[in-house]
Amino acid sequence: MIIDGRKFSQEYTDKVLKPRCEVIKGKYNKAPKLSTILVGEDPASESYRRIREKFFANLCVESDVIQLPEETPEKELLEIIDKQNKDNSIDGILVQLPLPKHMDEDKVIESISQDKDIEGLSPGNVYAWTKSAPNLIPATALGVLALLKHYQIPLHGKHAVVVGRSMIIGKPVAHLLLREHATVTVCHSRSKPLEKYTKEADILIAAVGRTHLIQKGMVKKTVAIVDVGVNFEDGKLMGDTDFDDLKDDVAYISPVPGGSGPATVTMLASNLLLAFELKHAKYDIDLRKCLKEYYADYEAKGDKDPCI
Ligand code: NAP
Repeated sequence: MIIDGRKFSQEYTDKVLKPRCEVIKGKYNKAPKLSTILVGEDPASESYRRIREKFFANLCVESDVIQLPEETPEKELLEIIDKQNKDNSIDGILVQLPLPKHMDEDKVIESISQDKDIEGLSPGNVYAWTKSAPNLIPATALGVLALLKHYQIPLHGKHAVVVGRSMIIGKPVAHLLLREHATVTVCHSRSKPLEKYTKEADILIAAVGRTHLIQKGMVKKTVAIVDVGVNFEDGKLMGDTDFDDLKDDVAYISPVPGGSGPATVTMLASNLLLAFELKHAKYDIDLRKCLKEYYADYEAKGDKDPCI
C-alpha cells in the first residue's frame, strides 16, 4: 500500500487545522503569524519556502519573510531574532537551514525563544521531546508519526529502525516511536552492514539523503517504510529508497515526492497554531497541558475546541 502524504495532508487540514483556525479566528480575532528568515540564496530553501507559503495561504496564517544577503554577519542575524522573540505579534520563528558557513547553526537555533520555536529544536523543546513530554516537536518527525498513525500501522511492541541520527529528523523520530512503545534501533553512517538492521525492521524510516540506500532484498515483505530523503538524480526528485522496486514487495511505502514532504508542511502549520494557542493559554496550566497532549496525539479527531 502506498502511504499518500498529499491525501493525509488534505484530510488533516480539513479535519483538524481548519476547525482549529475557525476557533482561533472566533476567539482571538487575529491570525497566528510566522516569520521566516532566509540567509543567502539556496534553491532548495527557496522551493521549500514557496511550498510552505502556498500551503499556509489556505489557513488562518499570516506569514512574513525576511531575506538577508549571504554575507550577513551572525551578530546581525542574532539581533533580528532577538527583536522577533520580543515582538508580541509574532508567534513562530523559522530560520531556514542550512545557514552560510560563517554562522554557527546551533547558536542561531538556540537563540530562538522556546515558545516561538516551531521547528522544535531549541534546548527547552529538545529536552521536552527527549522526555516524551509533548511540546513543539520537529515537524518532519511529527509528519512521519502522523503518516504511520493515519494508516493505522501498529507501533506498540514493533521493531522500528530509523536510518539517520540528525537532530531534525532521526533523533526526534526515534523518541516519538519510543513514546509509542516501539523498540527502536537507530542506524547511521557507521552501521555496517546496513541490511543487517533493516532486515529486522517492522517499520523503517529512511532519513539520510542518499539515493538507492534501501534496496530490494534489504527489508521484510511485511515492513512499513517512510522515506524522508530528498535527493536529485538526473534532475529527478527521489527519496532514499528504490521505490519502484520495493512498492509491490512491502506492506507500506511512502513515495518521494508526495509522502513525507506534504506531511512535514502540515505538521509545521500545526506547530504554528499550537504556539499561538499556547501563548494565549499562558496562565492556564490545565489548558496548556490539554493542548499539548491533544495535538501530540496526531489522530485527526476533528473536535472543534477539544480543551474547553
Ligand atoms: P543529515 O543531517 O545530513 O543526516 C543524515 C544522517 O544520515 C546522518 O545521521 C548520517 O550518519 C546518516 N548517514 C549518512 N550516510 C549513511 C549511510 N550510508 N548509511 C546509514 N546512514 C547514513 O540530514 P538530515 O537533515 O537529517 O536530512 C536527511 C534527509 O531528509 C535529506 O535528504 C534531507 O534533504 C531530507 N529532509 C526531508 C524533509 C521532508 O520534509 N521530507 C525535511 C528535512 C530534510 P552520521 O551521523 O554518522 O553522519
